[in-house]
Amino acid sequence: MEDESERVVIVSHCILNQSTRARWPGGGARRDTGFLRDVLQLLMAEGVGVVQMGCPEFSLFGNPRRPRTKEGYDTPEFREICSQIAGRTCDRIIAFQKTGPTGVEVVAVLGVDGSPSCGVRRTPRIIDDEGVDASEPGLLMETLMDEMKRLGLETPIIGMSLREGEREERLTALKALIIPRAS
Ligand code: SF4
Repeated sequence: MEDESERVVIVSHCILNQSTRARWPGGGARRDTGFLRDVLQLLMAEGVGVVQMGCPEFSLFGNPRRPRTKEGYDTPEFREICSQIAGRTCDRIIAFQKTGPTGVEVVAVLGVDGSPSCGVRRTPRIIDDEGVDASEPGLLMETLMDEMKRLGLETPIIGMSLREGEREERLTALKALIIPRAS
């Protein structure tokens, strides 16, 4: 990444470092290097810097850990970690805006759809005793959205996705934010 980027994206931790993803004996931590390469190549090609958020799940539980739903992570301790990460993220967005002489544009925050914490538009939940993909943000993104709204920050948030059918759509949405200004 360029040292003097005028534009940055803020990303969920595991977009840069998959080792924090849930893994347990015999499973987990699936790596999709194609997806990661697509995102990172786009950012590098356009000279967009990358800022990494903390991973709330790894911070509190480390690994091994098994996947949980939003309900499974929803405790006061977990919300506190989300609140700290969201607060630091907003501090950074504001600091970038104030960077002289013209500010550094935070183009987007990139979450990870399908995560109970970093999901933006798709989050695993238990509703009526049944596991469902809910069309809502995960705990970290929900906290971040609330804090950004409180502070009047309007940075777009995109849930990148490993799922076929969503993956291209989200990459296209990211490109649409990044490439017009690069041309
Ligand atoms: S909590 Fe977020 S950063 Fe951590 S592994 Fe899950 S999606 Fe990645």
